[in-house]
Amino acid sequence: MKVEKQRLTFDELIGHWAQEKPDATALEQDGKAITFAELENRTRRIVAMLAAHGIGKGDRIAWLGKNARHYFELFYAAARAGIVMVPIGWRLAAPEIAYILGDTGAKALFIDHDFDELAALSCQQMESPPEVIDTPTAMAEIAVAPANDFEPAGPDDAVLQLYTSGTTGNPKGAVLTNRNLFALRMPAEEAGQPWSKWDEDEAILVCMPCAHIGGTGLGIMAIAAGIRGIVQAEFTPAGVLQAFEQGITRLFIVPAALQMVIQHPLAKTTDFSAVKYVMYGAAPIPLDLLREAVKTMPDAGFLQCYGMTETTGTIAMLPPDDHVLDGNQRMRSAGRAVPGTELRVVGEDGQELPRGEVGELIVKSPSNMAGYWNLPDATASALIDGWMHTGDAAYMDEDGYVYIQDRMKDMIISGGENVYPAQVESAIYGHPAVAEVAVIGVPDDTWGEAVKACVVPKPGADLDPNDIIAWTRERLAGFKVPKSIDVIDVLPRNASGKILRRELRAPYWEGRD
Ligand code: ATP
Ligand code: MG
Repeated sequence: MKVEKQRLTFDELIGHWAQEKPDATALEQDGKAITFAELENRTRRIVAMLAAHGIGKGDRIAWLGKNARHYFELFYAAARAGIVMVPIGWRLAAPEIAYILGDTGAKALFIDHDFDELAALSCQQMESPPEVIDTPTAMAEIAVAPANDFEPAGPDDAVLQLYTSGTTGNPKGAVLTNRNLFALRMPAEEAGQPWSKWDEDEAILVCMPCAHIGGTGLGIMAIAAGIRGIVQAEFTPAGVLQAFEQGITRLFIVPAALQMVIQHPLAKTTDFSAVKYVMYGAAPIPLDLLREAVKTMPDAGFLQCYGMTETTGTIAMLPPDDHVLDGNQRMRSAGRAVPGTELRVVGEDGQELPRGEVGELIVKSPSNMAGYWNLPDATASALIDGWMHTGDAAYMDEDGYVYIQDRMKDMIISGGENVYPAQVESAIYGHPAVAEVAVIGVPDDTWGEAVKACVVPKPGADLDPNDIIAWTRERLAGFKVPKSIDVIDVLPRNASGKILRRELRAPYWEGRD
């Protein structure tokens, strides 16, 4: 299918869909919906409202709230006019929120219901706090406000500033332009992959937090494809299962959430037949979990997505055909470069490594961020000649499939051998008494670092650490087998569900690293 024109901005896309399908639903939440024609009109009015607050092109506004239809309206409107939206994770504490607000210099903080106290607390800690605007009130007012003309943002204007998840260190603000957000759509359509084609009546579920690319990114996808975005305030397994029965055709979900969905009692009686594609990613997925998910939804196409905030999300994908249950090795891969991007695995000197050798994965893509906000040094070491250095250790096979080993920062060097925690976790995860596991390196006088597994037992399970060690020894090379096991109640995770190994590691390395 040939796309007649590449639309690279929110302004063009919203205008286009408002003409093409004015009466189709653009956004929906809790049964309340707005059409593309209404979206076109309302976003114009929002731009006028922002102008009345002295906010225009190049300024930043922030959002503090759960996922909401209002958030997406605000974001789309701001983006039409080149105002940069900074969604802030609502699970953050006041000092963290104050830090992001100060760092971005946001002129206004839009808050949703129930966030006034947290907003006030955050602003108290700032020298020049932003204007705090109650979004439901502002949105009620725009219904009767004028919709002035404005100068639309171009493809290379910044429209979104998303903070990385803070898994390996402090979150960094990735500045993304219109082009970053939409440039991969055309190559995907031209490549003719079935999942790049959207039927008129498709609907996508936005249930992951909007402060991350896995949340806001789906709202971007909905506008790019001109389909219905169904917004849920936050992820709940029951909510996702309900949405399956309300006709959603696609969703994106992180592995920890996918596990909760398929293990929910209602999953057994849920009708999954409307679902075309289940996209999952953002963290390594244990193979057993993936198999279980594929068995639970046999008619859905599974798409593993690999990417990062800095690449505006997915830059490698494992297609449905590679999700086969007969022990196919490909199912361990995060997939191949999506059309329009290029992947390489490089050594420390930056030279491309032979296929099969583990090095750092780098990516060239029109979706690579403009840079980190206020961090020129970090930008210079991450974006080199247009290549984004992912910080992920990976190898590539002869067919271009990448196998993510783990974060370079999390790699354990034990007795001179490299151990990737994700691989050890994947082996331990299959043990019947294990609910969750994280593997870390701890100081060891003989080995430099020793492999340790922190294991959360399944409820009521009798977990014997020696048994876990024996189990792993049957499955992995000796140097990868944990030397010790900590049995713990819960794993520390960030808002995107990623395990914070650095928090588990910290007490062991105190005063040493
Ligand atoms: P920070 O950069 O602040 O430490 P973060 O890297 O977790 O946080 P994100 O941009 O949300 O922030 O996540 C990108 C990272 O997530 C990738 O670099 C990779 O390590 C991991 N990741 C994403 N998709 C996958 C996948 N399909 N399989 C394995 N890991 C993945
Ligand atoms: Mg990162």
